[in-house]
Amino acid sequence: MKQRSAALAASLLMLPGIFVGTPALAQKAERDSLTYGELIKKTEKGEVQKVELDETEQIAKVYLKGQKPDTPPIQVRLLNQNTELINTLKEQDVDFGQVSSANSRIAVGLLINLMWILPLVALMLLFLRRSTNASNQAMNFGKSRARFQMEAKTGVKFDDVAGVEEAKEELGEVVTFLKQPERFTAVGARIPKGVLLIGPPGTGKTLLAKAIAGEAGVPFFSISGSEFVEMFVGVGASRVRDLFKKAKDNAPCLIFIDEIDAVGRQRGTGIGGGNDEREQTLNQLLTEMDGFEGNTGIIIIAATNRPDVLDAALLRPGRFDRQVIVDAPDLKGRLEILKVHSRNKKIDPSVSLDAIARRTPGFTGADLANLLNEAAILTARRRKEAITILEVDDAVDRVVAGMEGTALVDSKNKRLIAYHEVGHALIGTLLKDHDPVQKVTLIPRGQALGLTWFTPNEEQGLISRSQIIARITATLGGRAAEEIVFGKPEVTTGAGNDLQQVTSMARQMVTRFGMSDLGPLSLENQSSEVFLGRDWMNKSEYSEEIAAKIDSQVREIVNNSYIKAKELLQENRTALERLVDLLADQETIEGELFRQIVAEHNQITDEKLAVPHCAEC
Ligand code: ADP
Ligand code: MG
Ligand code: ZN
Repeated sequence: MKQRSAALAASLLMLPGIFVGTPALAQKAERDSLTYGELIKKTEKGEVQKVELDETEQIAKVYLKGQKPDTPPIQVRLLNQNTELINTLKEQDVDFGQVSSANSRIAVGLLINLMWILPLVALMLLFLRRSTNASNQAMNFGKSRARFQMEAKTGVKFDDVAGVEEAKEELGEVVTFLKQPERFTAVGARIPKGVLLIGPPGTGKTLLAKAIAGEAGVPFFSISGSEFVEMFVGVGASRVRDLFKKAKDNAPCLIFIDEIDAVGRQRGTGIGGGNDEREQTLNQLLTEMDGFEGNTGIIIIAATNRPDVLDAALLRPGRFDRQVIVDAPDLKGRLEILKVHSRNKKIDPSVSLDAIARRTPGFTGADLANLLNEAAILTARRRKEAITILEVDDAVDRVVAGMEGTALVDSKNKRLIAYHEVGHALIGTLLKDHDPVQKVTLIPRGQALGLTWFTPNEEQGLISRSQIIARITATLGGRAAEEIVFGKPEVTTGAGNDLQQVTSMARQMVTRFGMSDLGPLSLENQSSEVFLGRDWMNKSEYSEEIAAKIDSQVREIVNNSYIKAKELLQENRTALERLVDLLADQETIEGELFRQIVAEHNQITDEKLAVPHCAEC
């Protein structure tokens, strides 16, 4: 019984065993030519020579007398209790015995079964492994494999970074820290551990960090703050630990943490509870920074465009106590950057980099690099030898306003857009304080169906009140023209973006620049973005009453400018009509021609109209 249940258990465990076992059983059944009763009879008759009883399998192997030695025994199925057979065998004095062949057969069966099972188990494991791959990553989160990049040599030099001279000067010292730390430690100076680069995207922060490593000839480790922040609490912290461990092994070296605001945001400011993971990561970062002495030869450079949200602990002495501003380049800076990026490009000698720099106020280093690349692509597409001013111009348009589309076919819509754009350009030309028109076009770009380009006359650090009013008036010129020509019911959604800009400009005049009747008050911060809690809380610093006054001031500025715009257009209706006809026909009017036509229609060309002044101002 015991053995049987063991065999049963084995067969249950090994399902595939059935395939092996069945044919063998079938063979046994074939040879089973004797029944239990027949066996007893044969024994009684004395025909049986020898019987082997196998109780496990309940089979008797019967060797008959006169049987050839090599013929297999006849197998007889036994009953549960075989006393009768045994008694008969004893009586007849037949040689019989118990055999334990069953045991060895089980062993063999087990082996055969195992041979089936092993690949099966392996296969199952494979599937299991595959399906749990995602959660497996959780298992080895401690190792930050390939989460930070390491460059033994960045190959970037200070020469490759332009237009950020002050930053370069400040960072030159960091290079010396890395190259000759003994010079500072000898006189007992503590080498700063961290430098924070602050500036908008694309101004060359990453490039600068690389240049420092390149100049100092040390390895460059970089990671982005967003890569620290993971789903699992503790992952970021262990990444930080890992990064610093690697860096220590490779000292002297430079660690660059991009977008540090992703981890370094003020702790405990999240709406609806802080982010545990981020706080842990930040704490780990602070611990690591405190953990090594200034002279281990590791300098950490972090970059952000949101220094205002950084945790104060990060900015303490001994951490990122040096802060370097990397701002968008000015005219001279842009020229320098253009020089750097035109080094490896074929540019026609007639192209003046200075003119490009003038056309691109507000462009960052990345924008300028992109611009020259676009121009080069256009040049290749046009199968020209070298980049000419045409390609550069087209590239600027494209970078600023998006891809060029095809102009509308003649229709009422096209005419309406023509009036709208000429409305902008005409007012821009008529107002003395407005930047000159560069061109007006009906060729769509990006989202815009038509565009009016203005050239900023010079680098404008400060903008006067009249200049802002002039901009507001010209921006309203599009809608004003639509209304004058087609009537109020026909005005379109095309002015939506204009109105947004106008409102924002007017609002800033009131709340930030003190350019309204409310007086010289700053009522709003520069960044009114909601940033996780902190900015959210002290959003409105003024009373309801002031809020209502702000609204009415904004409305007044906009309304007065709109009235002025309509007046100007009505006074110059003939010029408007002629320019629209020309634009609808040619699709683009250059600034020169535009001004010429306006002048022909306007007697007082030399003394352009003064800025519109509202009665209250
Ligand atoms: P950031 O890190 O400030 O966002 P990057 O350093 O990544 O900007 O700049 C992106 C690319 O733009 C650089 O690889 C480089 O080609 C170009 N670039 C940006 N700023 C400059 C600069 N000051 N001088 C030269 N190239 C620049
Ligand atoms: Mg960067
Ligand atoms: Zn418009």
